[in-house]
Amino acid sequence: MESADILAIDQAHAWHPYTSTLDRDPVYPVRAAYGCYLELLDGRVLLDGMSSWWCAIHGYNHPALNQAARDQLDRMAHVMFGGLTHEPAMRLVRSLVELTPEPLQQVFLCDSGSVAVEVAIKMALQFWIASGRPDKHRLMTIRSGYHGDTFNAMSVCDPVTGMHHLFGRVLPQQLFAPAPSSRFGEPCQPEDIAPFAELIERHHDALAAVILEPIVQGAGGMRFYSADYLAQVRALCDRFEVLLIADEIATGFGRTGRLFACEHARISPDIMTVGKALTGGYLTLAATLATERVARTISSGTPGVFMHGPTFMGNPLACAIANASLELLLADDWQANIRRIEAGLTEGLEPCRGLPGVAEVRVLGAIGVVEMEQPVAMREIQRRFVEQGVWVRPFGRLVYLMPPYLISDVELGLLCEAVGQVLA
Ligand SMILES: *Cc1c(COP(=O)(O)O)cnc(C)c1O
Repeated sequence: MESADILAIDQAHAWHPYTSTLDRDPVYPVRAAYGCYLELLDGRVLLDGMSSWWCAIHGYNHPALNQAARDQLDRMAHVMFGGLTHEPAMRLVRSLVELTPEPLQQVFLCDSGSVAVEVAIKMALQFWIASGRPDKHRLMTIRSGYHGDTFNAMSVCDPVTGMHHLFGRVLPQQLFAPAPSSRFGEPCQPEDIAPFAELIERHHDALAAVILEPIVQGAGGMRFYSADYLAQVRALCDRFEVLLIADEIATGFGRTGRLFACEHARISPDIMTVGKALTGGYLTLAATLATERVARTISSGTPGVFMHGPTFMGNPLACAIANASLELLLADDWQANIRRIEAGLTEGLEPCRGLPGVAEVRVLGAIGVVEMEQPVAMREIQRRFVEQGVWVRPFGRLVYLMPPYLISDVELGLLCEAVGQVLA
């Protein structure tokens, strides 16, 4: 197809994330992607600063992941998971149990991040039903969170950015503590955790679980908060008999400098969700992990089974690629590599601090954020970034970089320079 044909169909019939069919955002046809580059149909090549929303940690078109996909394709692309099992899924299950905090022992494979969150919430609800305490059915979270676009996931997203006014009549009403204000690397101020503590104390009889993104709140604001705050949340959940769900869908697999962000606070949740980078950005796959206690309680109460089973559960192709992606990640000193990217982002984004309209510059692991005072003009700024030869897609007041882990120092410098130039 020619570029014009693709764009014509797109204009006429295709929905993109969060878009209107009447007033369409410009879109750029891509022909190929390799390493840290996206190649547009018109021949322009863009340096990727997004990892396709946290996913493509090894870049695009990676020989090892391609090979894993081909090898698995020649055996079987998919078989149902009801009554059948296979090596790709079991290798992945074993790895997830080994890599995540020790108490997480039971793995539920599913299709996408939002589904993993639904599964986590359902586990928490079934846990309390099985425990004979069905009144514990509400969720508590912190503002500025993002947990996906399905209804229960939406109910724990930030009420403002998550559009609760729009769906208020059908969304379950959950409890919201303020977003943590103590920064990453700093202790948690007592007045920061106080509203959380007060809310959980007041409502614990009705609470099934607290759900939050550990350390980094992603799509809800790219905020990095105190590990000490997270540790205190864990302690409060224990004290008031509320389960803790850690949504590691964005933070998992090294992005924050630890394999999982919970490790920054040395805590382990009762339930954990992973997704996004799990397959290195090749296919949609996610997982929800639970402790032995959660799984055993669910399985011993009524109805005695966990009530979920997606059609594509344990998809062998996706699992095989996930196994190759994890192998690749752990094969070298990934932690030193993330520190290298952190140093590059810190240095490269430093000049942005002085620019007019910039509220803050912050970096954690392989995530660099320039927060503006005002929302950016999306279409205009997107066009400018493409003209600069980079793929950076801001939202709201946030211009941010989370490049593939294989980005070189020179490429990192170019990305940061482009951000500086466009914002200037
Ligand atoms: C992206 C994301 C989700 C939703 O994942 P999808 O695969 O888009 O459904 C959930 N939680 C967090 C923290 C995310 O970043």
